[in-house]
Amino acid sequence: MAMQFSVLASGSTGNAVYVETDEHAFLVDAGLSGKQMELLFQQIGRNIADLSGILVTHEHSDHIKGIGVLARKYKLPIYANNKTWSVMDGMIGEIPTDLKFSFDMESVQSFGHLQIESFGVSHDAIQPMFYVFHEGGKKLAVITDTGYISDRMKGTISNANVFVFESNHDVEMLRMGRYPWSVKQRILSDIGHVSNEDAALAMSEVIGDQTKRIYLAHLSKDNNMKELARMAVSQTLQEQGLAVGEAFELYDTDPKTPTILSAV
Ligand SMILES: [Zn+2]
Ligand SMILES: [Zn+2]
Repeated sequence: MAMQFSVLASGSTGNAVYVETDEHAFLVDAGLSGKQMELLFQQIGRNIADLSGILVTHEHSDHIKGIGVLARKYKLPIYANNKTWSVMDGMIGEIPTDLKFSFDMESVQSFGHLQIESFGVSHDAIQPMFYVFHEGGKKLAVITDTGYISDRMKGTISNANVFVFESNHDVEMLRMGRYPWSVKQRILSDIGHVSNEDAALAMSEVIGDQTKRIYLAHLSKDNNMKELARMAVSQTLQEQGLAVGEAFELYDTDPKTPTILSAV
């Protein structure tokens, strides 16, 4: 069986991506309550107890809310870089030392045939990073919570079979919206989140001949809509000479409903 995955939940109310191989199963983040995480696992027909571990991206609550509860209840190993551990420690309650693992930024860890690669992003957390999964010649790249996408990040995620890609906001909706100016500034900055257009421009440089699916993720509840994100991304991709629906397709993610568990 090939590597499979589901975006369990995505957005500012909580994020979690599930990835499994024949031998292992991991979560990228667990940003919803323990109860909500259990419901999401039920919906994809999997057990939290079977996880090999949870990979943490950064210490924002929409990424770590459920981590303490799940680690303690199911005795799950938690992986994060040391800087993230230093700030997360006070936020998720006591975690037994034997469940705390280090995952350095810009490093690779192997679990059987699965290789997990971490890479830094540009976001207002202490040392935010995301992950690329490699197994059996397939590649899954998860990247959200970044203010821009550097050439280095593009190199790491390039030509993935599947992307879970941030498409956070529509710039006009954000500008016209009700958020205080300081919050708008933060989101629009280089350490905030990427807009639909900026996401699409970066996508146009990393989509390769292997790329089949792109999941638009971490959509702002107030400053974006699924239809708008999909339209804006496809239009920008088209302007860059890439036709959605030919070699690859765009997919939605949802804050509450998992995407169908499917092969990478
Ligand atoms: Zn987030
Ligand atoms: Zn964040």
